[in-house]
Amino acid sequence: MTNTPAFDSVPDTYKVKYTWLDGQLVESAAAVVPLMTYTLQYGLGVFEGVRAYDGARGPAVFRLREHMERLHASAHLVQMKLPYSVDELVAACAQTMAKNGLRSGYLRPVGFVDDGKRGLGAMNNRVRVGIIVWPWGAYLGDEGLKRGIRAQVASVARMSPRSFLPKGKITGQYVNSIIAKRAAVLSGYDEAILLDEVGNVAEATGENIFYVKGGVLHTPSTSSPILEGITRDTVLTLAREHSIAIEEAAFTREALFSADEVFLTGTAAEVTPVREIDGHVIGSGSRGPVTERLQSVYFDAVNGRLASHEEWLTSYLPDM
Ligand code: PMP
Repeated sequence: MTNTPAFDSVPDTYKVKYTWLDGQLVESAAAVVPLMTYTLQYGLGVFEGVRAYDGARGPAVFRLREHMERLHASAHLVQMKLPYSVDELVAACAQTMAKNGLRSGYLRPVGFVDDGKRGLGAMNNRVRVGIIVWPWGAYLGDEGLKRGIRAQVASVARMSPRSFLPKGKITGQYVNSIIAKRAAVLSGYDEAILLDEVGNVAEATGENIFYVKGGVLHTPSTSSPILEGITRDTVLTLAREHSIAIEEAAFTREALFSADEVFLTGTAAEVTPVREIDGHVIGSGSRGPVTERLQSVYFDAVNGRLASHEEWLTSYLPDM
């Protein structure tokens, strides 16, 4: 073989020494699972994406408890019993960040089903939990946060609640998002926006969606098949506190095409403006004023610069 395929590899800067697995911190290299892990075969697992910021009050994880509550809620939807309580998982996440000496970064708690009985009907295999952490910058790029990104309306629909459980952050369900994301990236876009089965806008592949028209902030209501994002809730809370009018209701792609501003929210993507959708320039074609204001207050919140919402921060002391 002369041509070696170039695979992406984990950058050294993302490699952290310790991973939390089944109740203890172990060397990351030892945190491995068997090939017949039920979750690897069938996609039945639950996960979270959480961020920590080195803010004004020192390193703190943002809305950690809500993320661990959602992990438990996702597990409940698929009848997986997580062997750790919300409190135990909150402590474990903080401990994993601290032990790795990380002052900021991304946390990926995952609940998965081990090998044991084989076949789809296995009900009592051991449920395990891992927490992986790493330093991570802006998911859709620093430039994306400032200038906005370009998105495509996906040809695949957001999974139907008739067939799946879209309110759960369930590993296998992400194939739906990946199909849409790959098609968008291969067509030269940054992100995909998925419609639901009846043609209303649902969300992006790993972000909720908002648009602004005439000063009013719009987003699909929680009766849409969306993941109920914690960033979505944060932005709605902050918007209310800044007297921005809000409408949570169904809308079609036309509303996006003629919007003044569109932006996406997610723990990874934070608050990312969308400047173009399917070749339609959105508003002025750059980050709009309402997006900029909400983005700025969001960064104040996650960085502990708001006098209110101290309850959103779980502080920890990183090992030196
Ligand atoms: N929708 C989907 C499908 C997601 O995966 C995510 C990321 N968890 C979001 C929305 C945003 O959720 P959050 O703000 O809680 O990160």
